[in-house]
Amino acid sequence: MKFYITTAIDYANNSPHIGHALEKIQADVLARYHRNRKEKVFFLTGTDEHGTKNLRAAQSLKMDTQNFVDKIAEDFKSLKKLLNLSWDKFIRTTDRENHWHGVFKLWRALKQNGDIYKRSYQGLYCVGCEAFLTEKDLVNGKCPDHLKEPEIIEEENYFFRLSEYGNRIKEKILNDEIKIVPAGRKHEILSLINGGLEDISVSRSRERAPWGIPVPDDDTQTIYVWIDALPNYLTGIGFGRDNKESREQFHEFWPVDVHLIGKDILKFHALIWPAILMSIELPLPKSIYTHGWITVNGQKMSKTIGNVISPGDLAVKYGTDAVRYYLLREIPSTEDGDFSEEKFKERYNGELANGLGNFTARVLTLASKNYPEILATEIDNPEENLWQKIKETEKNIDKKINEFKLHEALIAIWDLIRFGDIYVNDAKPWENPQNKKREIANLVCILKNIAKFISPFLPQVSDIILSNIKKSGNVYKISKGENIFPRI
Ligand SMILES: [Zn+2]
Repeated sequence: MKFYITTAIDYANNSPHIGHALEKIQADVLARYHRNRKEKVFFLTGTDEHGTKNLRAAQSLKMDTQNFVDKIAEDFKSLKKLLNLSWDKFIRTTDRENHWHGVFKLWRALKQNGDIYKRSYQGLYCVGCEAFLTEKDLVNGKCPDHLKEPEIIEEENYFFRLSEYGNRIKEKILNDEIKIVPAGRKHEILSLINGGLEDISVSRSRERAPWGIPVPDDDTQTIYVWIDALPNYLTGIGFGRDNKESREQFHEFWPVDVHLIGKDILKFHALIWPAILMSIELPLPKSIYTHGWITVNGQKMSKTIGNVISPGDLAVKYGTDAVRYYLLREIPSTEDGDFSEEKFKERYNGELANGLGNFTARVLTLASKNYPEILATEIDNPEENLWQKIKETEKNIDKKINEFKLHEALIAIWDLIRFGDIYVNDAKPWENPQNKKREIANLVCILKNIAKFISPFLPQVSDIILSNIKKSGNVYKISKGENIFPRI
């Protein structure tokens, strides 16, 4: 069994904020979950580094564009350690060796089968959007995002025959061959298809867009984002590299199991991307998961307001697993959510310090003091009702993770913690521990399973707990350990 998951590649014009972190943490949970099931996992992320916006951002800082995107890419890469992310590869679209060759190969294949053709195009072009807008996109004649009137531009561009693929894509989405999660978003895509798909422009004049991959055999044109950024999902696992290892890797992992993206780019992933793949006869993505957006204290994050939260700063202040927990638990996986430091502290103290932290400390203290060594058979064969509760929790977690409801998987785990708290309160093993070995072994069993269940979500804390319940031969050696979530 293999599992290939990707995040969107982030636009390299700004450092990462907690919205970027959310997507990467969600993907990391899925990658770790599948690795724990002994599947062969490939987790890909990266940065989208071409385009006029990046060029302009570099210019405004009087920086060389490549140096600028190098710096931003480093900021994104630093999240790996700060948030304990387990990606296998970080792909950059300015990487000629790993990315450009695959893009050239794809372009040539599309051109060869007639799906890329050249024609004159006149349109309303917004520099900020780097896109041609239609009359109905405008508000009072201006781009609503940039509050500027678009320029009228006529140029020769290459186009992709998206119009040819509407019916076939519709069928694949309707019968869940490309599964869109949450299912509610499926209808957005189907209604777009029903409205009719037009061919899309896939190049820009080199003059207007000098920062990008040149069109093969036509140096007057630059490849536009659809055929530059989207193919990272292919090039990230070796497409276009002419060596045995890359070819094998590509065949092992394609098609992708999950594209995890923000809801704003679903359209491109559910329409343009499958059409490109159909054109070159590659298997289609199995599923596309979409997440929502994060506000801060109810407001959209923006540099102007000055409320952009850095996930790295947060992790340094409160700990990696605390940040992971908040984002995974507070934000419903497929919906919008909010961040506030107040709510963060509330969840931290209530659910991490008092919940998981307190239960862990109670169990490890009781066991290490009274029975620092317990036979593995005693711990791994608890009372029947308890075992049922654990199995039921596990089933529930599997279900929720497979439905991409990570917050509900956490609710199920915290329900087991509550069950453990009630068990220890009822059993009162501190009153006469010499007669309560069975009860203490049961509690260790609960804790050990909780640690196992949280491992994709809170990997550090899971490791710490399990290191205090260490198997040695046919016994578990239990130590008290440290306080995993001191109150804040
Ligand atoms: Zn615009």
